[in-house]
Amino acid sequence: MVSLQAVDKHFGALHVLQSVDLDVAAGEVVVVIGPSGSGKSTLCRTINRLESVDSGQVLVDGVPVPAEGAALARLRADVGMVFQSFDLFAHKTVLDNLCLAPVMVRGTPKAQARREAMELLERVGIADKAGHLPAQLSGGQQQRAAIARALAMRPKVMLFDEPTSALDPEMVAEVLAVMTSLADEGMTMVVVTHEMGFARRAADRVVFMDAGRIVEVAPPEQFFAGGGSERTRSFLSAVL
Ligand code: ATP
Ligand code: MG
Repeated sequence: MVSLQAVDKHFGALHVLQSVDLDVAAGEVVVVIGPSGSGKSTLCRTINRLESVDSGQVLVDGVPVPAEGAALARLRADVGMVFQSFDLFAHKTVLDNLCLAPVMVRGTPKAQARREAMELLERVGIADKAGHLPAQLSGGQQQRAAIARALAMRPKVMLFDEPTSALDPEMVAEVLAVMTSLADEGMTMVVVTHEMGFARRAADRVVFMDAGRIVEVAPPEQFFAGGGSERTRSFLSAVL
């Protein structure tokens, strides 16, 4: 579903992605971990072309990610992204946040978009907040609204970049619960996170990045068993 092939990327002199190869199968959940500055966000952002690549290829559903124009807009409609900052439209209600893109980009009739949006809000447990503005929600509720908004486009893939890092501890669990149920339902997901519990429970594979390279890829049970590289073990001993 997502394929990075020999991807290289520089920011000036900084080599942020170094011949990165990664294949994410349909329905697979890949959790990306690694130290700060290792290139996790950049990797994620190449998948919907928020970052260009210098060389190599990024494919989504077998198609090279387009550089611009209508083709890129179509690609982005298929690739949902949730960031650390919930970035909902502040002056629109939660319901309108969910309906906007389906109506404007997909051409979904308004009544249908609202019906589907309410179903999604139900699913993430905030249907009672449909008429509220984002600022009237807790951080955890805002992030669940952001996830529901991404899902409203019926994406083929969901990208999460540290979706719980900005949340108070008691709100982390409710967001992870939504992500876990999404994973269980078979959504294809690439998740950058420091939540090792989520990685253990929901990941099909864990990717460890360091200094722009993928150092290790393994199923969680194997990854957390500690048989990996020295670099991986020292990272794990610092975070676990
Ligand atoms: P963190 O865990 O802190 O979020 P990360 O693994 O997501 O880190 P990236 O955000 O991908 O790391 O950044 C990789 C490197 O590229 C870092 O050294 C960062 O400073 C640098 N970098 C990221 N974006 C840019 C940019 N737009 N211009 C220049 N350098 C950048
Ligand atoms: Mg990052």
